[in-house]
Amino acid sequence: MKEIVILGSTGSIGTQTLEVVRNNSDMHIKALAAANNIDLLFEQASEFMPELVCVYNKDKAQKLEERIKDAGMQKHISVVTGMDGLTDCAVINGADIVVAAVSGMIGIKPVIEAIKTGKDIAFANKETLVTAGHIIMPLADKYGVKLLPVDSEHSAIFQCIDGERQRHNRPRKIILTASGGPFRGMKKEELKSIKPEDALKHPNWSMGKKITIDSSTMVNKGLEVIEAMWLFGAGLDNIEVVIQPQSIIHSMAEFEDGAVIAQLGVPDMKLPIQYALCYPDRRALSGERLDFYKMSQITFEKPDMDTFEGLRLAYEAGRAGGSMLTVFNAANEKAVAMFLENKAGFLDIPKIIKECMQEHKNISDPSLNDILDVEKDVYKFIEKRYNRIL
Ligand code: NDP
Ligand code: MG
Repeated sequence: MKEIVILGSTGSIGTQTLEVVRNNSDMHIKALAAANNIDLLFEQASEFMPELVCVYNKDKAQKLEERIKDAGMQKHISVVTGMDGLTDCAVINGADIVVAAVSGMIGIKPVIEAIKTGKDIAFANKETLVTAGHIIMPLADKYGVKLLPVDSEHSAIFQCIDGERQRHNRPRKIILTASGGPFRGMKKEELKSIKPEDALKHPNWSMGKKITIDSSTMVNKGLEVIEAMWLFGAGLDNIEVVIQPQSIIHSMAEFEDGAVIAQLGVPDMKLPIQYALCYPDRRALSGERLDFYKMSQITFEKPDMDTFEGLRLAYEAGRAGGSMLTVFNAANEKAVAMFLENKAGFLDIPKIIKECMQEHKNISDPSLNDILDVEKDVYKFIEKRYNRIL
């Protein structure tokens, strides 16, 4: 039996992970965590009977505890809360793998603690890897745990290079594909008036709100470039982004001899999720399959980094390294939250990131506390500056 913890079980990745678990009788849920959504968490807890459930919000945690008691399940399920509760889930005894599927930097501490207890990590939570990759990668080596990418591009690259890696063939170039998002081909003038409801319509993938906005600004692809840098130990000059609007090729790796190996499939996150949970095995997965006779074309374009500046800024932050990665990520998290609340415009997102990066004095090898301090400083800077203007 594979014992699984899901941090972020009520989200897009979390619920799809539970679908995978439902379809594999040798998988069992040990702990679940969410921020607020206790209705769904109660349903999930009743179905999967985990030992531990965390609700980050304290009041909601109390309410869930009462509901679990009313349903007579309190002997089987304990409820915890806050960062301590999230960490308790991540380190719970007897779990084999933690699916990191919260959104944002909140995942850093629990992921680090899970690694220290020898658990493999199925990594969806890219913000954690982007900001703390320099801590997480060596720690995973030290504790001999596997970091299995769930992000479709990184899962694709992992699948492309896995066999080659065993023969010591390293890729010369990583080619990350991008759909280009809903505003592909538009120029800045047209992007000025974009509203959250426009940006929340992704052409190919159905995802949580934050990553959907990130996809529309191409900051998501920037985060993925940095994610690839950490996961595959690649230099930024060897990571190329190519727009492939149909989202059929999930990414590619080019080798010394010019051979390019790609992973293709329909856009369905259950494939990378199941692959991470079952690695190195492949299992049957129901759903649509690629039909090459019906597929009319696969096309490619160069990304427009002058219009979608978020991608260019990610390369800049990646080259600077250190705490600049936290600045890039934290500024984006805050700017996206402001955009979703109609407190900032669409083009303010890259503008805010740029301003925060310009303001920052880089720390080359930030500790976890440095990272959390820089995150707070970035938030303070934005609040001070933008509360005045907006
Ligand atoms: P969602 O917004 O759909 O879900 C986020 C989940 O995290 C929810 O369960 C939410 O709980 C939970 N959460 C948020 N804050 C906390 C907290 N403080 N404590 C405990 N739980 C918390 O996001 P997605 O599933 O779309 O994305 C999750 C991560 O995976 C992100 O980092 C994203 O970039 C990455 N990713 C997502 C992909 C996708 O297809 N969705 C693809 C590739 C990567 P609640 O519901 O209660 O708010
Ligand atoms: Mg992705």
